[in-house]
Amino acid sequence: MTEYKTCNKCSYDILDSEGEVMEHECLIDKRLHEINTFQCVDNELYLRGKDEYGEDFQICFDAFNFLEWIDKEQIEYIKQKVIEYVENK
Ligand SMILES: [Zn+2]
Repeated sequence: MTEYKTCNKCSYDILDSEGEVMEHECLIDKRLHEINTFQCVDNELYLRGKDEYGEDFQICFDAFNFLEWIDKEQIEYIKQKVIEYVENK
């Protein structure tokens, strides 16, 4: 059985032929723990709140690109996953 390995700093999990995590540039893995502001201006979508350490944190999306990825179908999927999570808790 192959051991499931990931990078210690990020969640990168592609392994090389020796079964070690492949060299990579670590991703920025942050949690927007609590959203308190939503803003959409000039094709930029902002979500602002607190990160996993309680510090102010903001993420900005290209609004058009965001809608290419997140639309009704994905919102329904997210709702479904939240319902599953709450029911299994
Ligand atoms: Zn990494």
